[in-house]
Amino acid sequence: MTVRRLEPHASTIFAEVSQLATRHDAVNLGQGFPDTDGPASMIEAAARAMREGHNQYPPGAGVPELRSAISGHVADHTGLTYDPDTEVLVTVGATEAIAGAVVGLVEPDAEVVVIEPFYDSYAATVAMAGATRRSARLVRAGDSYRLDVDSLREAFSPRTRAVLLNTPHNPTGAVLPREDLAELAALCREFDALAISDEVYEHLTFDGHEHVSIATLPGMRERTVRISSAAKMLNCTGWKIGWLTGPPDLVAGARAAKQYMSFAAGTPLQLGVAHALRHEDQWIRAVRAGMREQRDQLTGILTGLGIDVVATRGTYFLTADPRPLGVTDAARWCLELPERVGVAAVPFSPFVDDFAGEWSHLVRFAFCKRPEVLAEAGRRLEALR
Ligand SMILES: *Cc1c(COP(=O)(O)O)cnc(C)c1O
Repeated sequence: MTVRRLEPHASTIFAEVSQLATRHDAVNLGQGFPDTDGPASMIEAAARAMREGHNQYPPGAGVPELRSAISGHVADHTGLTYDPDTEVLVTVGATEAIAGAVVGLVEPDAEVVVIEPFYDSYAATVAMAGATRRSARLVRAGDSYRLDVDSLREAFSPRTRAVLLNTPHNPTGAVLPREDLAELAALCREFDALAISDEVYEHLTFDGHEHVSIATLPGMRERTVRISSAAKMLNCTGWKIGWLTGPPDLVAGARAAKQYMSFAAGTPLQLGVAHALRHEDQWIRAVRAGMREQRDQLTGILTGLGIDVVATRGTYFLTADPRPLGVTDAARWCLELPERVGVAAVPFSPFVDDFAGEWSHLVRFAFCKRPEVLAEAGRRLEALR
C-alpha cells in the first residue's frame, strides 16, 4: 500500500541485517551508534531540567539556551556567526534537519544533486519532496575517496536547486579536502544552487585531517544550510537533538516544513545538550582520540584476516573490501555473516543507486564500540580463516 514515491525506500537491508543480528545474537557492527554514554553533566542537566518542570513544548525553533549554545559552538569551530533567533533551528535529529531543508526549500519540479554513496535518508527525503534526484559520485583516490568532479558537473543543470553533501563521510570515512569542496562551491555559485551540508561527524576526524565546512568557503555562507547533531557529537543518538544553521531566508524555509513534521521535541534534552555544548568541549575532543584507537583496533582485526581496509579519516565507519576472501557479493556476505560467525556489518548497497556496480563488493563496519566488544568481534571473525 505504500505510495509509489516511497516504495523503493520502504525497506532496506539495514533492517534485515539488524533482525538477523538479533536472531543470532551477533556483535552488531552494522548500526552506527556508540555503546557508551555522553558526558555525565549533560545527562544530569537533562534530568534536572525534567525534575524542575521543563516538560512541555519547547518553542518551535528550539529552546533559546540551546540556540545560543549552538551559535557559540559553531562560531568557536568554524568562525561563522549565526544569529540564534533567525539563523538557528533545532530539529529532531539531523534527519529532520535534512528533511526540513529539502521539503522546505526544494520545489517538486526541481533537481537535487546527491553524491554516491550517500546516507540512506537522502534519497527518501528527495522523493518525499517530490523532487528529482541526480547522482554524482565519490571515486577512490590514493588511500581514500574524493569527489568525482566530472560526475558533479554532469549532474548539475539549470534545474538544480540544491546539492546534498556529507563530510566527514558516512559510509566511506573520507574527509573531503578543501580543494574538492571549492570545486563543488564553484558549481553551486555557477548554477545558483544551495548546499545542504550534513556535518554530523564534524568533530570525528583523525590523523590531522581537519573538517572543512563548505559554508566557510567564499560566497557560500549565504547559500548553505549547515546541519549537525548531538547524536554523534555527544553519544546520545536516542535523544534525536539536531540542528541547522544558515541565513534567515533558508532557515525560514526549513522551519516552515519542520513545524508540521514534529513541530518540536525534547525540551529537557535540548537543555542537556545546551549545557554540554557550553561546558563539554574537552569531552568532545577526548572522544576523538578514543575513536581513533578503536578504528585502529578494528582495522588490525580485519587486515589480519586478509580483508582490505580503506584508510578511515573520520566518522564511526571503515570501508572493508573482502574480495581477498573470495567474496564478490557484499550484500549476500553480510546476510550470511550473523549466522555464520556471529558478527553483523552492512553492505554499501543501501547507500548507492546509479553507481551501484562500483560499490557492490564493499562492506561498512562500525568501530564506535568499546574495545572489549571489538575484541569479541575479532575472536568470532577468526572463524572466517
Ligand atoms: C547518523 C547520521 C545522521 C542522522 O543523525 P540524527 O541526529 O540521529 O538524526 C545524518 N547523517 C549522517 C551522515 C549520519 O551518519
